[in-house]
Parts: sequence; structure tokens; C-alpha cells
Amino acid sequence: MLKTLVKNLFSKPVTERFPFGPREFPAGSRGQVVIDTSACIFCGLCQRKCPANAIKVVRAEKTWSIKRMQCISCGACVDACPKDSLKLDSKYFTPDVTKREDTYNA
Ligand code: SF4
Ligand code: SF4
Repeated sequence: MLKTLVKNLFSKPVTERFPFGPREFPAGSRGQVVIDTSACIFCGLCQRKCPANAIKVVRAEKTWSIKRMQCISCGACVDACPKDSLKLDSKYFTPDVTKREDTYNA
């Protein structure tokens, strides 16, 4: 026990000083889906793989939309994308009170 006590006295605390210090998210954290429209080919695979029906791709108009409140951050769209144009951001985003749909164009 004495060994553990001495070790803890001289080691860095495991707790974070948030909001006084920057928040560090562990690897693999699932946040908001972000798209790189320059790489997207509007194939619609992400739309078909989404279990929450949150994504809508209109190939003719080259638009990619996501219903933010419907998304459950499962990552299925990220895994399905053949062009690696989707990723799950690990940044904090403020909670929303409106059912907004974000649309991105090529
Ligand atoms: S799967 Fe990828 S390339 Fe295809 S529409 Fe979705 S984001 Fe674009
Ligand atoms: S992370 Fe999951 S729920 Fe969200 S858009 Fe992608 S597939 Fe749909």
C-alpha cells in the first residue's frame, strides 16, 4: 500500500482540468459525421448503410445531407464509404434543440 501511495503522490492526476485545460478525447471517440465533398462521388452507399436513415444523397444535384438529430454516430457510413470522404469528428458539439438537416454541395 505504501508503494502505491508514494507512486500516486508523484504521478500526474488521471482527471482532466476541463474547462481550465483543453479536453483530450480518447482515440476512437465518436462525434459528428463530417464530409469531404471534394472526395465524394455521390454513390449513395453511405445512405444505404445508415441504420438511422439520417443521410440523403442526391446524385443529380451532387448534394449530401445529414439529419443531425437522427444520427446515432454508429460509424457505418464511414466504414462503407469507398472514397474515405466521411469521418467521425471527435470534437465537442453543442446539443441542438431543432431537428436540423445539414446539406453539403460538391
Ligand atoms: S459513400 Fe462516400 S462517396 Fe459515396 S455518397 Fe457517401 S460520402 Fe460520398
Ligand atoms: S454515423 Fe451511423 S447513424 Fe450517423 S449518419 Fe453515419 S451511418 Fe447514419
